[in-house]
Amino acid sequence: MSEQTSYGFTTTILHSDRQKDIEHGSPHKPVHTSVTFGYKDSRDLAAVFQGKQSGYRYGRQGNPTVSALEDKITKMEGGASSICFATGMAAIGALFQALLREGDQVVSSSFLFGNTSSLWQTVDGQGVDVAFVDATDAAHVVAAITPSTRMVFVETIANPRTQIADLKRIGDRCRERGILFVVDNTMTSPYLFQPKSVGAGLVVNSLTKSIAGHGNVLGGAVTDTGLFDWSAFPNIAANFRKQPPAQQGMAQLRAKALRDFGATLSPDAAHQIAVGAETIALRMERECANAMALATMLEADPRVAVVHYPGLPSHPQHALASELFRAYGTLFSFELKAEIDCFDYLNRLKLAINATHLGDTRTLVIPVAHTIFFEMGAERRAAMGIADSLIRVSVGIEDTQDLLNDFSAALGS
Ligand SMILES: *Cc1c(COP(=O)(O)O)cnc(C)c1O
Repeated sequence: MSEQTSYGFTTTILHSDRQKDIEHGSPHKPVHTSVTFGYKDSRDLAAVFQGKQSGYRYGRQGNPTVSALEDKITKMEGGASSICFATGMAAIGALFQALLREGDQVVSSSFLFGNTSSLWQTVDGQGVDVAFVDATDAAHVVAAITPSTRMVFVETIANPRTQIADLKRIGDRCRERGILFVVDNTMTSPYLFQPKSVGAGLVVNSLTKSIAGHGNVLGGAVTDTGLFDWSAFPNIAANFRKQPPAQQGMAQLRAKALRDFGATLSPDAAHQIAVGAETIALRMERECANAMALATMLEADPRVAVVHYPGLPSHPQHALASELFRAYGTLFSFELKAEIDCFDYLNRLKLAINATHLGDTRTLVIPVAHTIFFEMGAERRAAMGIADSLIRVSVGIEDTQDLLNDFSAALGS
C-alpha cells in the first residue's frame, strides 16, 4: 500500500503498520520490549541524542511498537503526529506539564469527565487559572477569554449528561485569536468525529475507551492536527524553537511531559490497543445502534423521568450532533421517576454490569451521583445538572433485543 492512496477508516487502521517497514512479514507490529537501543557506530548514537538523526534511545520517550500505534492514531484523526501516554489522564496532564506556565489562563468547559474536572482544580492551585464555562454556547467561551488565555479545552459529548460543545464556533473564535483549541474526543472517538474538522489544534483521546474497546488495557494519546501555529505560542522554550515551527509543540510535549514525567505507554499495552482499534468501526456501529434503541424505549416509558441522549430529537443539541457526528455515541443517561429507587433498578438488571468505565463491549451502568461524582459534593453536582437518581449507561455490543428486555424488565411490570 502506498501512503498516497486514500482508503476508508477501517482499511487504513488494519493496514497502517504495513505502510512502514514490514518486520518479518508480520501484519501486527511486533512487541519490542527493549528498554534501550544500541548503535554500531557511536557517532550515530550521538547524532540521535542531538536530534540530527531519527532513532530510538530509551523506552521512556519512544519505542517502535508505541510509534506504530501513534501513527495509527494520527491516521484515525487525520492529524500530523501523535504521542501516546500510559492513560488518558496522563495525556491531559501532559498538556499542563508541557504547555502551561504560571500566570496562564485556561478556558474549560464545565461539563467534564470527573477526573479532568479534578485535575483542572489541582492546576488552578498551581498558578494556572482555569475559567469554567458552559461551552454549549461559544459566547460563554469568548466572554471568559483574557490576554493570558493559552488554551480552550472542551469535550465533544460531555459525560454523563451528554451536552455537546459548540465545537465549530469555538474553533472559529480560537482561530481568530490564535488560541490553542484542545478537544477531548474520547466520547465520540475519531470514528464518529475528527476535531480537526472544527479547527482543533490538539486532540486528546483516552485509548482505554472506544479505541481499545474491550476494557482490558489503559492508554491515552495527544494528536497534533497540524492546524495550530506553534511559532506564535509563547510557552515554547528556546531549545524547541530550533525545530521547524510545525513540530515545536509536539517536540516540547514529548520531552517535557513524556520524558520528564514518565507516564509512558508500555509496548504490550500498545499492542493490545492496536488490536482493539482494528474493530472500532464495527463495535461503535453496534453500540450506537443499541444506545439509540435503549434510549428510545426508555424515553417512551412513563416510569422514566428523562433520558439524555444526543440521538433523541428531544436532546437540546440534537441538530448539532446530527451535523457534526457520524452517529450519536455509545453513552446515555436517564432518571427514573421517584417511585423507583435507582439502586433497586440497577440490582434488577441481569446483563448490564454495575461498574464504572465506558466504551466497553459489555454494557455498564452506574449511579453517577453516588459514585464517580460523589467526591465533588452536592453543590457542584447541582451546577452540572447531575440528579441523585441519574443512571449512566455505557452501551455494549450485546444483541439489541437482549438489552431491551433487560432494561425494560428491571422497570417492573
Ligand atoms: C476516561 C476518560 C478520560 C481519562 O482516560 P483514562 O484512560 O481512564 O485515564 C479522559 N477524558 C474522557 C472524556 C474520558 O471518558
